[in-house]
Amino acid sequence: MGTAYIDDFLPDALQFRSSAPLVDIGANLTHESFGRDLEAVIQRAQAAHVTTMIVTGTDIQHAEQAVSLAHRFPGLYATAGIHPHDASQWNNAIAAEMARLHARPEVVAVGECGLDFNRNFSTPREQERAFEAQLALAAESGLPLFVHERDAGQRMREMLHAWRDEISQAVVHCFTADRDTLFGYLDLDLHIGLTGWICDERRGHHLRPLVGEIPLDRLMVETDCPYLLPRNLPAKLKGRRHEPALLPWIVREIAECRGISEADMGAATTQTAQRFFRLPTESLKEY
Ligand SMILES: [Zn+2]
Repeated sequence: MGTAYIDDFLPDALQFRSSAPLVDIGANLTHESFGRDLEAVIQRAQAAHVTTMIVTGTDIQHAEQAVSLAHRFPGLYATAGIHPHDASQWNNAIAAEMARLHARPEVVAVGECGLDFNRNFSTPREQERAFEAQLALAAESGLPLFVHERDAGQRMREMLHAWRDEISQAVVHCFTADRDTLFGYLDLDLHIGLTGWICDERRGHHLRPLVGEIPLDRLMVETDCPYLLPRNLPAKLKGRRHEPALLPWIVREIAECRGISEADMGAATTQTAQRFFRLPTESLKEY
């Protein structure tokens, strides 16, 4: 296993092209680590057949940046929400600003929003208040929700259950929880987003037997880049920055867990994402 500089040349890890065009439903492309070479990152994604990226907006500033990226680059779309870590800043002015962003054609989901009782950067009470308000915004706009949940499965299920008839769809992104939580979400007719967490033998392998329990029409894939670099890559990447071009490696791992081909797996997740985010079909064209 060699060490490769992702910015200097294309290492083996980047040369794996998916046979189906893929949708990365969670790419934090407004992160400062992409500040210098975003265009190259997007080109590499397209070369790897990751033709569509949903850029995560986690507060007003990042959501606005996500919208302008989506405006600038074909194949990019944005979400707009307040992350549970930042829930303490929620107020009426932010709610109004969010509603304005949700009306933009580039915005395809409300979020990232939800509950994170693992780190509690905002108090659980503040998180619930901000999430509740964003559930209301999703109900008003009709947009699907892009949900973050960590160590808050039970409360998340209660809140989503209370709102289920009002909201259209919701995806629990970067699902890492247990079987009961998964079935609770599936019972609520929710979608599930899987990341490279599943490739992590130290903490993610409990997910492997669960992957086959998720119906293909509810399963989507995401890098959550620049975080969560998958551990199944053939080369060690200097800097360890994750990026959308590596999504096929996550699809490969999930396909292996389910015992189906990468092509079928990729095509199914793309179809599901296209329906969920109501993406125009031309967004999946080849580059
Ligand atoms: Zn998240």
